[in-house]
Amino acid sequence: MEKLFYDLLDKYGYQNWWPLTGKFDPFEEVCIGAVLTQNTSWKNVEKAIENLIKANLTSFERILQTDDKTLANAIRPSGFYNQKAKTLKRLAKFLLSVEKENIKREDLLSIKGIGKETADTILLYGLNKMIFVVDAYTKRLLHRLGFIDSPKIEYDTLRILIESAVPRDINVYKEFHALIVKHCKEVCKKNPDCKKCFLSNRCYNYTYG
Ligand code: SF4
Repeated sequence: MEKLFYDLLDKYGYQNWWPLTGKFDPFEEVCIGAVLTQNTSWKNVEKAIENLIKANLTSFERILQTDDKTLANAIRPSGFYNQKAKTLKRLAKFLLSVEKENIKREDLLSIKGIGKETADTILLYGLNKMIFVVDAYTKRLLHRLGFIDSPKIEYDTLRILIESAVPRDINVYKEFHALIVKHCKEVCKKNPDCKKCFLSNRCYNYTYG
């Protein structure tokens, strides 16, 4: 798996995901992005973030001060906007009440609307904690390449497997996740474009056509 990381890095280069806009506190931007990206594409998140900037909702404090309807309207492009507005407020309230260094995974997971992928995104990209972020792309690619038997593998089982297989380095964790997303969005899509794939010579799922 370490080789896969370096091959993806050679192919696509560093992704440097966050910070994005410079309009938010970097930690708060990661948290907001992590909630907005639930069940939607990053393009839609970017539209929602643009709206937040236009509406001057660029901090947890401002998000908490605004009413649910205004917030939901701003983040409408990200989908599930009523639930996400409530989740953002719950998350903002919690994060403003604690010291960053004391934030634990269990605390984030106890907030309604925050699942493992969202919590781990906040921990890894926002707080530089050594935890790998698993998502549907990770499961898809590692299954197709034969690292795991099933794409339905349990989240933490796969997370721990990856953490034990790649160098214990925060930048490797950050970049490996981002590179998997990049490869799956561009090539290893639901219907994979295997003819264009530089990994095809080692893939168990190579599809002709
Ligand atoms: S060869 Fe096809 S299925 Fe395998 S990793 Fe590449 S795009 Fe995905």
